[in-house]
Amino acid sequence: MPELPEVESFSQAIGREFAGKKIRKVKFHRADLRFPFDQPTLLKIFAPGATFLFPCRIAKQLVLRTDQGMVAVSLGMSGSFLPSSYPKRLLHEHVTVLFDDDTALGFVDPRRFGFWKPIQSYDEVSVAADPLQVESLLKVFESRSFRHSQRSIKDALMDQALIGGLGNIYALECLFRVGVFPLRKCNRVKKAEYAHLAEIIPPMLLQAIDAGGSTVSTYRRLHGDAGGFQELHLVYDREDAPCLKSHCKGIIKRVAQSGRSSWWCPRCQK
Ligand SMILES: [Zn+2]
Repeated sequence: MPELPEVESFSQAIGREFAGKKIRKVKFHRADLRFPFDQPTLLKIFAPGATFLFPCRIAKQLVLRTDQGMVAVSLGMSGSFLPSSYPKRLLHEHVTVLFDDDTALGFVDPRRFGFWKPIQSYDEVSVAADPLQVESLLKVFESRSFRHSQRSIKDALMDQALIGGLGNIYALECLFRVGVFPLRKCNRVKKAEYAHLAEIIPPMLLQAIDAGGSTVSTYRRLHGDAGGFQELHLVYDREDAPCLKSHCKGIIKRVAQSGRSSWWCPRCQK
């Protein structure tokens, strides 16, 4: 998984090799990665004749710059930049920026968890923790805004300014797995429980991503709603069902929390 040093070295290498060149065109070889490409805006940023400027790095995102605009690129799980030999494509090359000297820069991402987001200012680059990275989660859990907070752990986990991309389902699922009641306040969660959360969130999300992929392909084949997602839910939407932890005889309960439902096992989540 690309970490900050890899992002920085991509930024430097791309700058050294391509900064100052004129763009001939940009090609998107699919409609989306983690999110759909905003193609109208991206085509303006990489318009024919635009000058490619030295990129920069903010946290773990790479900001590609031209004299027409900027785009924040997340490498996700497996993204990388490579010199491309357009019109020949590298394996998993999803974007190609072609320059007027016939060189080309390719964005390759086999797992497609990266994204390209046009931005107007550097402030728009999210510095929220990446929930796919243990270190990133530990850092946010150790911050004052988390440790000393009076709000519930579930609400804090879902705060997109702190952690990018954890929603109701997976906040509840991870709290179930570590035995923490969703309404418990952040300042009452123990250090070991935070460490446990940081350890289990990334693999849980990866499992969900893989299941989501199969759900989508099943859906396309069958035009029905049969997917793998539900099988991963140990607590979400399981009111009155028996707790799935071995040796726990609890029955899952539901409670309204911040306008949404929370499910938990009263016996194993304190
Ligand atoms: Zn239980």
